[in-house]
Amino acid sequence: ERRNPGQPEFVQAVHEVAQDIFEFMADKPLYHEAQILRRIAEPDRVISFRVCWQDDQGNIRVQRGWRVQNNNSIGPYKGGIRFHPSVTESILKFLAFEQTFKNALTGLPMGGGKGGSNFNPKGKSNNEVMRFCQSFMTELYRHIGADIDVPAGDIGVGGREIGYMFGQYKRLTNEFTGVLTGKGLEYGGSLIRTEATGYGATYFLANMLKTKGQDLVGKVAVISGSGNVATHAAEKVTMLGGKVVTLSDSAGFVHDPAGMTQEKIDWVKQLKNVRRGRISEYVDQFAGSTFHAGKTPWGVTCDVALPCATQNELLGEDARTLVANGCMAVSEGANMPTDLEGVHVFKEARILYAPGKAANAGGVAVSGLEMSQNSARISWKEAELQALLQGIMDDIHRRCEEYGGVAGAPGYIDYVKGANIAGFKKVADAMLAYGVV
Ligand code: NDP
Repeated sequence: ERRNPGQPEFVQAVHEVAQDIFEFMADKPLYHEAQILRRIAEPDRVISFRVCWQDDQGNIRVQRGWRVQNNNSIGPYKGGIRFHPSVTESILKFLAFEQTFKNALTGLPMGGGKGGSNFNPKGKSNNEVMRFCQSFMTELYRHIGADIDVPAGDIGVGGREIGYMFGQYKRLTNEFTGVLTGKGLEYGGSLIRTEATGYGATYFLANMLKTKGQDLVGKVAVISGSGNVATHAAEKVTMLGGKVVTLSDSAGFVHDPAGMTQEKIDWVKQLKNVRRGRISEYVDQFAGSTFHAGKTPWGVTCDVALPCATQNELLGEDARTLVANGCMAVSEGANMPTDLEGVHVFKEARILYAPGKAANAGGVAVSGLEMSQNSARISWKEAELQALLQGIMDDIHRRCEEYGGVAGAPGYIDYVKGANIAGFKKVADAMLAYGVV
C-alpha cells in the first residue's frame, strides 16, 4: 500500500495473489531470494499520455490514456484496452498484473499488459468514437508492435473500436501486422474470438461441475452484464441445456423467469452492439420479465452464477446470499468481479468457485491463436478453433486441479490458489532463467 498510494484495486489484486504465492514459496528459497513476486508486482513500465480530440460540436476534449506493460518474460505484452469513465491507473495496473498470470495459464507465449482511457463511448457518435480512437493510437502506436505488445478489446472496446485503432496504426506505420487482436474477419481477425471469453467461462464452469458428476442441463444460471462476455456466456449456457434468467448493465438487471432463448440473446446482442441501447428495454420486448433498477442480480435464486460485467460487482453480502440460496458454482467471466470478502465466503462454503484469471482466459487464448494465424498469414477453420479453445480451457482446469488441492479437504479444489500458483510458476521460472533484469 505504501508503494502504491491511492491504488486500491491494484493493492487488492496483489494481496489476493500474494497469500497463495507465499504459501507456495515457503519451501522454495530460490523464488524468495530472487524477489520474484515483488518484481512481477512492479510493472515493467506504465505509459501515461494525453489524448486530445474534437467532438461533433467542435469542442476540444482532453482525456488520459495509459498502457501498462506488466511483464514480458514469456512473450510479448498482451491484454485488452478499456474505455470507461471509471478507468484509472490503479485499475489498469490490477488488470495488467492479473493478465500476466492468466496469459501464463493458457500455455501460450504471452506476457501481461493492459491499457485504456477514461473516455466514455456511451452516447458518442461513430465519428466521435473514430476521432478518439485515432488520437489514442497516434500516441500508443510507438509503444506497441506484433512482437512487442499486442492490445485487444475490453469494456467499451469492441470490433468497431479495434477497427478504428488498427486503421490508424496501419496509416502511421505503413505496416500490416498483427498488432491488435479482436480484428474483423476481413482484415486478419480470427473466427470465434468474439465468442471466446463467454464460451470459455462456460466450458470452465462445465469442467467444474463435472468434478461433482454434474452438468449444466436444467441448471438455473444468473448472469450479470450484457456485453460481449455476458451475452456469449448466456448463449453457451443455453446451448448446454442451462436456463439463463438474468442479464444486467450499469442501470440494473432484468429477470426473465422463463429463461432466455437464442432468439432473446440475439435481440440483446443487437440492442447492445448495434442500437447501443439499455438492458431495461428487454422488458418491453419479452413478456413475463421484470427490470430491477439500480440492483445487481445476485439475489435471484440460482444453481450457478456468472459475473460478467466488471470488477467488484459481487460483494461479501451478495456472496452470502448466493450461497444461502443454494448456488453451487461461480465462474467469473469478468475480471475480479468478486471482492476479497466475497471470495472468502465462497471458499468457506467450499462451493465451486473459478476466478476470472482462470475462467475468462478463453478470450486471450483465442487472441493468442489470432496472433499465430497472423504471423503465419493463414486462417484456421471454426471447428479447429472451437476444439483448441475447449482444449485450452480443459488444460487450465487441469492446472488448477494440480496446484489447488487443500490439506485436510480431500476432493476440494481451491481454483484461486491453483490458478495463482500455476500462472506464477511459469513466469517465475522464466524470470529466474534471465537473472537480475
Ligand atoms: P462490454 O463493454 O462488452 O460489456 C460490459 C458490460 O458490463 C455492460 O453490460 C456494462 O453495462 C457492464 N458494466 C460495465 N461497467 C460497469 C459498472 N461499473 N457497473 C455495472 N455494470 C457495468 O465488456 P466485456 O463484456 O468485454 O467485458 C466484461 C468483463 O469481462 C470485464 O471485466 C472485462 O475485463 C472482462 N473480460 C473481457 C474479455 C473480452 O474478451 N471481452 C476477456 C477477459 C475478460 P453498461 O453498458 O451500462 O456500461
